[in-house]
Amino acid sequence: MTDNSKKYILTAVAWPYSNNHLHLGHLAGAYLPADIFSRYHRMKGNHVLMVSGSDSHGTPVTVRAEEEGVTPKDIFERYHNSFLQTFDSLGIEFDLFTSTDTSNHADVTQDFFLRLKDEGVLYEAEQTLLFDPDVKRFLPDRYVEGTCPLCDSPNARGDQCDDCGSTLDALELIEPRSKLSDSTPIRKESMHWFLKLSAFSEKLTDWLQTKSGWKPQVRNLSLGMIGAELPDRSITRDLTWGIPVPIEGYDEKRIYVWFEAVIGYLSASIEWAASPANIENDSRSWKKWWMDSEAETYYFVGKDNIPFHAIIWPAMLLGYGGLNLPTNVPANQYLLMSGTKASKSRGTAIWAPDALEHLNPDALRYALTASMPETSDSDFTWQEFVRRNNDELVARWGNLVNRVLQITNRNFNGKIPERPANFSHESSQLIELSEQAFDRCGQAYEKVELRNGLQQAMEVATATNRYLEDRAPWSALKDETHGFAHAGETLFTALQVISNLAILLTPVLPFSSNQVLRLLGQSGTATAHGWEPAPIFPSTNLPQPTPLFEKLDQDEIEQLFDSTQDSSS
Ligand SMILES: [Zn+2]
Repeated sequence: MTDNSKKYILTAVAWPYSNNHLHLGHLAGAYLPADIFSRYHRMKGNHVLMVSGSDSHGTPVTVRAEEEGVTPKDIFERYHNSFLQTFDSLGIEFDLFTSTDTSNHADVTQDFFLRLKDEGVLYEAEQTLLFDPDVKRFLPDRYVEGTCPLCDSPNARGDQCDDCGSTLDALELIEPRSKLSDSTPIRKESMHWFLKLSAFSEKLTDWLQTKSGWKPQVRNLSLGMIGAELPDRSITRDLTWGIPVPIEGYDEKRIYVWFEAVIGYLSASIEWAASPANIENDSRSWKKWWMDSEAETYYFVGKDNIPFHAIIWPAMLLGYGGLNLPTNVPANQYLLMSGTKASKSRGTAIWAPDALEHLNPDALRYALTASMPETSDSDFTWQEFVRRNNDELVARWGNLVNRVLQITNRNFNGKIPERPANFSHESSQLIELSEQAFDRCGQAYEKVELRNGLQQAMEVATATNRYLEDRAPWSALKDETHGFAHAGETLFTALQVISNLAILLTPVLPFSSNQVLRLLGQSGTATAHGWEPAPIFPSTNLPQPTPLFEKLDQDEIEQLFDSTQDSSS
């Protein structure tokens, strides 16, 4: 039996270039928001398929391999394993995290290429490219650097300027220089295949106009780029690492990494459907997420990827036909490191493996969510991280849980108190507040306003602390005639709200939420419980409470990360 009220939701997450470890900017930009969003929808009972994989191709990988004197495959495998460890430590739960280095992906990509060619949206033409006369090689994408013609950043690359987010043609770079020899490139002709993007301007504009719920910066950037006339894009490169072009005479060329990486969302879904992880045991079930018009697809990417997901990939999907366009591309802005953008390719990053070696994963998830760059760039500092950990996570949530459990343990024989026959106004009001938070918090998560969702939950924690101060069960217990019943009601109420809060916080804090449920004497995970209030049961034995989080010292944390900052780069 399928429940028709349950939605099919594809969570498509940016494919990281496997040329370095992930850093905190990646986690806050794409992976953590995708995981929070997916956890929420899984708890709602929706059918979530969350896929991504390592981008094993492209010049970021080959440039690094040449720098180290190893093969591109060595580089790709090293960082693919690093990504898997990071996701495991941080609790990022993919249904499938694969790579572009699979025969399935090559097949799906070549099929896509040939279909677009048959549909008449690809054409072959001679292209003028930059060529290094010293080493006698063409310089695709990242093999050339120079000054951005749009924002004057000196760090623009042949494919893109990270500083202003524009996609570039290497020929537009001011004062280009070769990454291979540092020489000034010359121009040379080469035959390539092009995607006729210009043919999609009108359709894309009409489609984007309907997306009034998108983040304004994503929609406006995309509409602006289309309005300025879309140039056709070459989708093959003079490289030998990558997916072969399924056309005769192209042995020395490969399909452009961006063209094939976005196809990865589709090929990963197909790979997942054919794998044992698909309990439906039906290799065609990927179609429910890609072909059913009721299904929803969300692309979690950083702002530098907006053009590829809001323009180029939709154009490819329109050209292919029969596949769903993005429901939303809730791209995040950048997480800056004290004013410097953290770039995987260029330093000043805090590497995910270092961070997760030293920090509680939920503490990191909390801080990154609370200052997630959803609508504008935000700055990550250790000072702010420690403040959020100590003043918010520990003081407002961790201590609340610990305090209520300690008092209950000491005064109620380590059991959840009896449910009061009558609740006072303030007690029933607090329980109601926590129950209503499921709607408010859920709506925020559905709109991918994750900071807001977290804030809605934390406000319930604040209200519970205030309630405890007002009711002061520790004082009430000193009154031997009425105190016990009064304190019993207070603690029962607080424990009930804590149980609800554990569920509300699960998308952001999955590890500690499970711990809270265990401390309340419940079995099963918060995720399995589903998105609804979690009743507590009187007389349940409570285990000895253990603190959820630790207070941190800013100096210690800064010292720790000053010394490890560069160890993995
Ligand atoms: Zn720029």
